[in-house]
Amino acid sequence: MSAGTDQDLLASVPTGLLVGGAWVAAQGGKTFEVIDPAHGTVLLEVADAGPEDGVAALAAAHAAQEGWARMAPRARAEILRRAFTLVTERAEDFARLITLEMGKPLAESRGEVAYGAEFLRWFSEEAPRISGRYSTAPDGANRLLVRKRPVGPSLLITPWNFPLAMATRKIAPAVAAGCTMVLKPAELTPLTSMLFAQLMSEAGLPDGVLNVIATTRPGEVTGPLIADDRLRKLSFTGSTAVGRRLLAQASDQVLRVSMELGGNAPLIVCEDADVEEAVSGAITAKMRNGGEACVAANRILVHRDVAEEFTRSFVARMESFVLGPGNEDGTTLGPLIDERSRDKVAGMVADATQAGATVVTGGSVPAGAGYFYPATVLTGVTPGMAIVQDEIFGPVAPIVVFDDDAEAVRVANATPYGLVAFVFTRDLDRAFRYSERLESGMIGLNTGVVSNPAAPFGGVKASGLGREGGAEGIEEYLETVYIGIRDPFASEVSD
Ligand code: NAD
Repeated sequence: MSAGTDQDLLASVPTGLLVGGAWVAAQGGKTFEVIDPAHGTVLLEVADAGPEDGVAALAAAHAAQEGWARMAPRARAEILRRAFTLVTERAEDFARLITLEMGKPLAESRGEVAYGAEFLRWFSEEAPRISGRYSTAPDGANRLLVRKRPVGPSLLITPWNFPLAMATRKIAPAVAAGCTMVLKPAELTPLTSMLFAQLMSEAGLPDGVLNVIATTRPGEVTGPLIADDRLRKLSFTGSTAVGRRLLAQASDQVLRVSMELGGNAPLIVCEDADVEEAVSGAITAKMRNGGEACVAANRILVHRDVAEEFTRSFVARMESFVLGPGNEDGTTLGPLIDERSRDKVAGMVADATQAGATVVTGGSVPAGAGYFYPATVLTGVTPGMAIVQDEIFGPVAPIVVFDDDAEAVRVANATPYGLVAFVFTRDLDRAFRYSERLESGMIGLNTGVVSNPAAPFGGVKASGLGREGGAEGIEEYLETVYIGIRDPFASEVSD
């Protein structure tokens, strides 16, 4: 099932705000343009929410909360399962839409759809398994009943780099737990969320459970919601800078928060690694999503003994990337999301070369429309350079040479971030030593991919709070209630 041409597909996307089950215009009729990053042209105009629209969306979520929380877990699970089936049936439409608004090659968008859909299936299986416990207090006097209940109306803020998966990674556990939601998608890629929200209604999600407000004024719109006592939870995926601001705002109401923030992943290649496997892992970890991923390898640390062999093979693989619009045959590297991001990446490479790094391949902005930047490798990079201190978020791989494990660990941990680290070695003890020493929420051992709906995704330090996916993911949307009960046998004595 596919919507025909790109124009047909775009015409099928709802362009309003979803509030209380109806697609409505923004107050004042404001709209904004969604741009195709491969051509710099307008794809669609969508409603641009203002603060009043945000408050209306929260009011709808609040009104729906009580009834939604009472719906049987199995019924919530069935909605998620139907949504999984519908997304899977329409995978090609979602993939095409992701490529249109975000730019990645179609093959990668298909991968995102499969990954994003899997959160729906995973949490459909978790919904009926929410449980509690009944136990006897240590002194035998009381009984302790512990149950879980939904946190309540949740504000979900998502980034542009995985327009479907970052939304389903929050929506699916919220639905499973029985929370209502206001989703604020990234203004650069709102279309996929809008098409997905329509699909959730088709899957049977009651009106008001999921509300969607795209806006070009995120701070102005979310500020009043975070200050509103009808909101109970804030789940954010995005940059650490914005996350910090939101955390400060959330402290006023002592809101429950989940924060999936920026990363600065080291990828460590030890001298005993299978070098070709390490090269393949590094290519995946660096180039998945064109480097625009929070889990992207930001620093490739290679032992001096294998640095030359690794670099030769890695550069050859980087040179094989074909830059172009994501929906053209043969493209393996799409554009960056916008001009600002492309200029930022180009500026970081220029700074690194000024600081003494060498561009081995790539490194120059191609002429023509679209926000393209080629696969780039830098050697002669030292741990103090800005290119390995900041998140690059582009197809640039800085290679840093190290001499022993202690140095690799020290360099890897010398960052405020701690989302993921990758290690390539054939020595099992060494792999576990690294796993215990690296300050990171996730570790990839001899693999360049860790993301998995069945695993707890998340970071330590400035990379965030909380986990998404796995058995842990649903807990972010549940709170624990304890009921103390008098010893039931106490009354038997007087009976
Ligand atoms: P961003 O922080 O600029 O934007 C993220 C979201 O926050 C968007 O929806 C945006 O509209 C919104 N936003 C921006 N300013 C806001 C404000 N003042 N108040 C409320 N909302 C605001 O980040 P981005 O550029 O969209 O995404 C890239 C960043 O996201 C990178 O740092 C990346 O590492 C991070 N990221 C993290 C994960 C993770 O799971 N840890 C996953 C994907 C992306």
